[in-house]
Amino acid sequence: MNKQINRERLLDTFVKLVSIDSPSYKEREMCEELKKRLLALGLSVEEDDTAPVSGSNCGNLIATLPGTLEMEPVLYCGHMDTVSPAYGKRAVIHDDGRITSAGDTVLGADDLSCVAGILEALQVIKEGNISHGPIEVLFTTGEEVYGTGASAFDMTKLQSKDAYIFDLTGQTGRAARKAPSIISFQIEVKGKASHAGFAPEKGIHAVQIASKAIGRLQLGHVDEETTANIGLISGGAATNIVPESCVVRGEVRSYSHQKALDETELIIETFEKAAREAGAEIAAESKVCIKAYETDLGSPVVKRFESACRMMGVEPDLGETFGGSDLNVFANKGMEGLVLASAMENCHSCSEYTTVEELCRVAEMALTLMTMTE
Ligand SMILES: [Zn+2]
Repeated sequence: MNKQINRERLLDTFVKLVSIDSPSYKEREMCEELKKRLLALGLSVEEDDTAPVSGSNCGNLIATLPGTLEMEPVLYCGHMDTVSPAYGKRAVIHDDGRITSAGDTVLGADDLSCVAGILEALQVIKEGNISHGPIEVLFTTGEEVYGTGASAFDMTKLQSKDAYIFDLTGQTGRAARKAPSIISFQIEVKGKASHAGFAPEKGIHAVQIASKAIGRLQLGHVDEETTANIGLISGGAATNIVPESCVVRGEVRSYSHQKALDETELIIETFEKAAREAGAEIAAESKVCIKAYETDLGSPVVKRFESACRMMGVEPDLGETFGGSDLNVFANKGMEGLVLASAMENCHSCSEYTTVEELCRVAEMALTLMTMTE
């Protein structure tokens, strides 16, 4: 099977895609390039109308290829956007097969290795006239901003019930079937300003109240499946003023959605109590950024992946991720799926890299899944 993957062509595609700027919400140019390529591969292509809702300058891209085999359709999905620094990316291919950026941007293997891999798999199918089941491809916008493109997506545009999302670090064979809820929150402690020298007793110290509350919190690992963090704090106006306001921002993650909700509530209550004790008030808001899911080990989407691994001679490595992906959105809209390793390491940093070898294996995994006959 591997012989059919055209290594040079795949590399060319990857390098070309990396050279296109596609920061979150600015995926238009990438979208046009992918439209062109998918059409050339014989798929029917549609850009959806989610741009005004998602805030991106283009919609999600959906492409379909009717099956030559009578099978259930399957969705192959990745995202068009890359994290910052995202402008002026350039892929540098090293002698040892590593591919890095020029050092001052991300590489964008997250998630362009997926996009390149899926395109190569489709190309091989077309060239070789290889039988395949019905294929649906979805390239989303704004994934890096808690899956805004996926959230706005109309699921009725898809026939598939099963999804493979290539958007995970690690070697081919690795897959995540479980991801957490992530809830972000902001709490403002509202104290009272007063001159810190002349009349400190007339003030209510918002920063001190916030400090007390934070001191009472359990941060880090709250239990075996939950974490909590205060990541930002700001407050006060000058060294000689009792701070009137202090704003803290943080997040809670848990594989249990209910636990994430409860933990967030507990944090807000802790601030409320500390504020009450000092005669202050708080204003709190929280937002469910993504919702947890867990795909059953016995589900067809897992079984098919395990068979594909065996066909490729790799050991399936089913685990979990403590980060989000578009699958958080789709799984909570009734789809079953896995997030698959997609030739990306050190993601979300300028030292992000991939390798020619892993790129080929991602394409091979996509090809294997698309052309399996069972
Ligand atoms: Zn990603």
